Amino acid sequence: MSGHSDSSKKRVLTRRTVEKWIVENDKELDTTIWLKYEMVPGDRKHVSALKCGVCIQFNDRLISLRNYNPAFVNGSKNTRTSAFKEHADMDMHARAMLLYKKQHSTNVCEYAPIAKAILQPSMDESTRLKLKRKFEIAYMMVKENLAFKKMKPLCDMEERHGVEIGASYRNDIGCASFVESIATDLKGDLKYKIAKAKFFSLLIDSSTDCANVDEELFLVLYFDPYSGSEDGTVHVRDKFFAVRHLARGTGEGLYICVKKTLAYMGVTPLEWQCKMIGLGCDGTNANIGSRNGLKGYLTEDIPWLIVSWCLAHRLELSVKDALKDTFFKEIDELLLQVYYVYEKSPKKCHELKEIVDNLKQCLTDTEMPTKGGTRPLRASGTRFIAHKVSALARLVDRYGAYLSHLITLSQDTAVKSLDRQKLKGYVLKWRKSKVLLGCALFHDVLKPLGILSKVLQEDELCIVRAIEAMVKTTKMFG
Ligand SMILES: [Zn+2]
Repeated sequence: MSGHSDSSKKRVLTRRTVEKWIVENDKELDTTIWLKYEMVPGDRKHVSALKCGVCIQFNDRLISLRNYNPAFVNGSKNTRTSAFKEHADMDMHARAMLLYKKQHSTNVCEYAPIAKAILQPSMDESTRLKLKRKFEIAYMMVKENLAFKKMKPLCDMEERHGVEIGASYRNDIGCASFVESIATDLKGDLKYKIAKAKFFSLLIDSSTDCANVDEELFLVLYFDPYSGSEDGTVHVRDKFFAVRHLARGTGEGLYICVKKTLAYMGVTPLEWQCKMIGLGCDGTNANIGSRNGLKGYLTEDIPWLIVSWCLAHRLELSVKDALKDTFFKEIDELLLQVYYVYEKSPKKCHELKEIVDNLKQCLTDTEMPTKGGTRPLRASGTRFIAHKVSALARLVDRYGAYLSHLITLSQDTAVKSLDRQKLKGYVLKWRKSKVLLGCALFHDVLKPLGILSKVLQEDELCIVRAIEAMVKTTKMFG
């Protein structure tokens, strides 16, 4: 026996025994994956504790479970055979193994209970059909941005329409499992395609989610000669790649985020450093700075990387720049002010509509305002040009109506005195013909650019079409 001095017979466990257990129980309990042991210090033969590698890995996510037991996380001194078998039977271990399989699998059928159920040969056709219907409902729900909670009412409605839908998975939790299964399957498919592709490019942009957290969005662009139709057509695919949390919006932060995202999608550094050929992004310094921007970091790994600044975004910025110190500033202010006069005031909107309707009665057909509402449009937004063009068009169209309404309001004693003063100021300014002419001028200048911007935002845009559209627009300006 070992050097224990106490006389009570202590069981000792040898390394050979544990290794035998691991092999013998692997088929049933996957012991090669999780059963680990610790040796008695300074002893090459005896085992001091048994551990579960998988429970250790996912400990953070198990600790809140009701019957959590830290024995196999910290190392169990109980060296009976029954000890590790009991651990294998525990809820926490089952949960940990599920997490482990998820992490190591691209095939949803290996761990998702729903997918497993569907593939069971014993499942009858009608049950399979009911499950399929619920899969379709869940898919539609995420596509339409509906809350998972709507799963139940939607299923209830289907049933009222005579569709057999079955009793299981008809709630938000069910919906979440369907969606997770679908997502994993799509992800696995995309991973496989990227692995087969010889080259790919990434398109990225950041945004904030509903919790106001920064997220980086990734699309992947790759050549896909395999899934074309039988007539031999091939495709360049533009697919959703991932959304990942962006910890810092700096060049370095973006670089870390890109690397993590590629790893998450199963693309190894060796692979992307050979295959990645392009990066599409907007023109912020964090993206395209050649020293401290993402571009700078990535070109160190990939010297041939082509970084392209989104054309539509570039156009927007150059127009903004070109108009900076011009009369446009005043027109832009006007757009905002007239919008705020009517924002949140149903009464004013109603009065305005009456004025427009009255005008229609005394105008000839050609002088009639064109179609559309009467309210001033909001002129600011992410798509600068498009917003300005439609707001200016509406303003020029209804200028007379707006002005006469503002004059009435500025004289109406029911309006607060302070507001009346403000409105009087607007009227004085906007009465000048220069202002109306300015609106019309900028509308005419921006309209062709708006069309160009739309072309540059097309899904199927290629460089030839972009150049053609640019030449056409330049010609319009003579
Ligand atoms: Zn375990």
